[in-house]
Amino acid sequence: MSILLIYTGGTIGMHSDARTGALEPLDFEHLQQGVPELGQLGIETDACQFDPPIDSSDMTPEHWVELAHCVADHYDAYDGFVISHGTDTLAYTAAALSYLVQGADKPIVLTGAQKPINYDSTDSKLNLTDAFICACSQELAGVCIVFSGRVILGTRARKTCSKSFAAFSSINYPDLATLHDRQMLCYIRPEREARPRFYESLDEKVGLIKMVPGTDFELLEFMLERKDALVIE
Ligand code: GLU
Repeated sequence: MSILLIYTGGTIGMHSDARTGALEPLDFEHLQQGVPELGQLGIETDACQFDPPIDSSDMTPEHWVELAHCVADHYDAYDGFVISHGTDTLAYTAAALSYLVQGADKPIVLTGAQKPINYDSTDSKLNLTDAFICACSQELAGVCIVFSGRVILGTRARKTCSKSFAAFSSINYPDLATLHDRQMLCYIRPEREARPRFYESLDEKVGLIKMVPGTDFELLEFMLERKDALVIE
């Protein structure tokens, strides 16, 4: 099995300085050293990374398109993909990628962590190892998030806890699979197509407005003047 790891940034690939507590990004070699479990899986892994790695709160739609390009360019060369990412906007990246890469017959797995890799209590190693196991699975396909032993469909995930290891929930949809002690139990096999469809761009003139009792109508007008379409939540 061969997997491409795309490291974008975030706590999962961070090392925290023992003295100052400052977080520093690791390159793939150091990441592999920090997670010896990855070597034990016997997976051939190549890595590419955002240079410099970014905090996921700095992710933009251009980055999503860049990630989709990266998957498209390497699609035939690998059996699956792991994208390591900060947790804050991980669910948005997963959703965007789900639309930019449709009908994939290989797993495209996003993961992150709540604690840096050199903390004793880190979840980084577990999440990375689980993500690689899922990326090698023939039962899974398309974009999903692997976090805290759960596999969540890319269009359904939301970060619902900022401190707990179980940071992500699947909204109105069951988990695709769960993982315990490196064994994956798959409940739902995502649909796949013979050949995935890759899209090149996103329409950024689509806005979202959250309606609450008392929402000012002028806010709606303001948004409509600037956007081609509005999703009213
Ligand atoms: N803001 C950071 C990020 O989302 C938080 C650290 C993390 O969750 O990885 O990249």
